[in-house]
Amino acid sequence: MGKYGNLSEIKDIQSERLSRLFDDVWKRIPPRSKGELLKRLWYVTDHDPPFYVPLSSEDTKHLYARTYCDDDLGAIFLVSENLAELDDDEVRGVIAHELAHAYLDHPCNAHVDEQQREIDADNLAERWGFESYGEMGYIFKMWEEKHANDTPNDTTTAQ
Ligand SMILES: [Zn+2]
Repeated sequence: MGKYGNLSEIKDIQSERLSRLFDDVWKRIPPRSKGELLKRLWYVTDHDPPFYVPLSSEDTKHLYARTYCDDDLGAIFLVSENLAELDDDEVRGVIAHELAHAYLDHPCNAHVDEQQREIDADNLAERWGFESYGEMGYIFKMWEEKHANDTPNDTTTAQ
């Protein structure tokens, strides 16, 4: 059994837009899957990641969301400033993908190959009816496309 029994106790999303999009996704997930998710998910937040999610690192700059293991349950951190550049469908895809990770017990079971976990999460999110964006694949491509015309900063050339 999970720590909490209902969505209002795991959902801690401050952004109005992300909260609404999360609810959209939740409504579309089959009831039985929702029951399983509530057993495996501790919380979903967009403002209070644990200290070990490195927000200032290069990695996180490219991250829309991350699912991690917290006290033997899955926890999802939505990076709202990065998700702000995605359209609603893309954000729903990201949320569904992260929920699929939690459903599949990925965050607390690191024994599965990382690439396989991304494929499995994408497949499950798609079975729930979402176009899923695994961060190993499409999610990075999306980032690159959106930032293709950015002016590079801190670029140094060494000869
Ligand atoms: Zn993923």
